[in-house]
Amino acid sequence: MKSLLPGLLALLACLTSCKRIEAKLDRLARLAGITVAQPDRPKLAPTEEKLTPEQEALESRLKGSAVFETAAPEPPEPAEKPFELNKSSVVAILGYHDFRERGGSPMIIAASKFSEQMKAIKESGIPVIPLSDVLEWRKGRKNIPEEAVVITMDDGWEGVYTHAFPVLREHGFPFTVYLYKKYVNIGGRSLGWEQIREMMKHGCEIGSHSVSHESLRQKKGRTPQDQQLWLLSELKDSKEFLERNLGVTCTSFAYPFGIFDDSITELSLQLGYETLVTVNNQKVTWDSPMGKLGRYIIHGENDTNFKLATSFRGRGDVSSNRFLTASAKDAQGQSLIDLSPAPDELVSDRQPLIRANLARLGAILPETLKMRVAGLGVVPAQLDAASLVVSYRLPTRLRRQDCAVTLSFKRAADQPDEVVSWRFKVDLPAAYVPVKLP
Ligand SMILES: [Zn+2]
Repeated sequence: MKSLLPGLLALLACLTSCKRIEAKLDRLARLAGITVAQPDRPKLAPTEEKLTPEQEALESRLKGSAVFETAAPEPPEPAEKPFELNKSSVVAILGYHDFRERGGSPMIIAASKFSEQMKAIKESGIPVIPLSDVLEWRKGRKNIPEEAVVITMDDGWEGVYTHAFPVLREHGFPFTVYLYKKYVNIGGRSLGWEQIREMMKHGCEIGSHSVSHESLRQKKGRTPQDQQLWLLSELKDSKEFLERNLGVTCTSFAYPFGIFDDSITELSLQLGYETLVTVNNQKVTWDSPMGKLGRYIIHGENDTNFKLATSFRGRGDVSSNRFLTASAKDAQGQSLIDLSPAPDELVSDRQPLIRANLARLGAILPETLKMRVAGLGVVPAQLDAASLVVSYRLPTRLRRQDCAVTLSFKRAADQPDEVVSWRFKVDLPAAYVPVKLP
């Protein structure tokens, strides 16, 4: 340690003299009227804005950098990471059973009714996503839309192939079919392997619905040991049977009759199921346990559950509102509503002005106008009564790639609510290009 001391002292002396020389040069330069170039620095976020932890770290590093003025400037780092997980998404999982020409019972829906429901979802602009996306989201690997619908069907009725599949394919909607081993490819009204494989080529995912479709709860007359063995086979055999025959990994399970308890859920998770769906009429959020994801069973004879499922955050459901799609056109082929940013537009401004020109609709009732922005809820948008332009400037910079906007209004008191939904994207990598100093 002693031997290092002279070296350290010499280094300190050198640093102090460097500092002194630098100060002298600076003074000389000022006298001569020359501006000394300073190393480029990343621009700081405006001070009135709340800083993120990353921005705070960057700022404190910059403050401290006065000590190291002679050091080479570090390349500016992005103040935030481009990918940020959106934990505010809400998903409605719909559960259907059988589809027939004529329906109207709790477990059988008429093909025409199902078709109307899918059309209403399509026109609402609420995206339909595969169940596997919900899993990816919950694993923190990807974002899903702020509001989304998942479509599932239990039991493996042939009506899935003959009536539902053509409609889903037409709309490009993904879906999940839950099959139970004893009712696959056995003729009658069961789905055959070829039908299943064909649907899998067009957005169909496969989940297990047990071996026998019996309630998984303890049966009278079975010893606890027998029950455990039986439960194991219901969960494991059905999974392996589907995986072997279809060449996919089966990670989802629908409890027969929606009946389960904690021990059943725990065993299922241990066996490799990652999403388990119930029948409890609840939406799925970031906090929903993966072992009991809420699901709405859609009955053929009434619309109650469909309406509950497709109303998000206190808005009316997809069938009670009159939805205008963002791309709706008038008789002359002109857009009914001009939107900015346009639907699916990629913008580089992270704090864009959101505008909707409603002039071509004629009149609207100003007091019924509401603009909702994903993550912000209802925002105080301004309506210019003369031009019928609604506008709203985002108060803070967008931190996500996807921004969904919903505008609702009435044209007259006796008219239904109309809703227009659209989303635009923020080109986050472009928005993070370091700002050049003058
Ligand atoms: Zn079932």
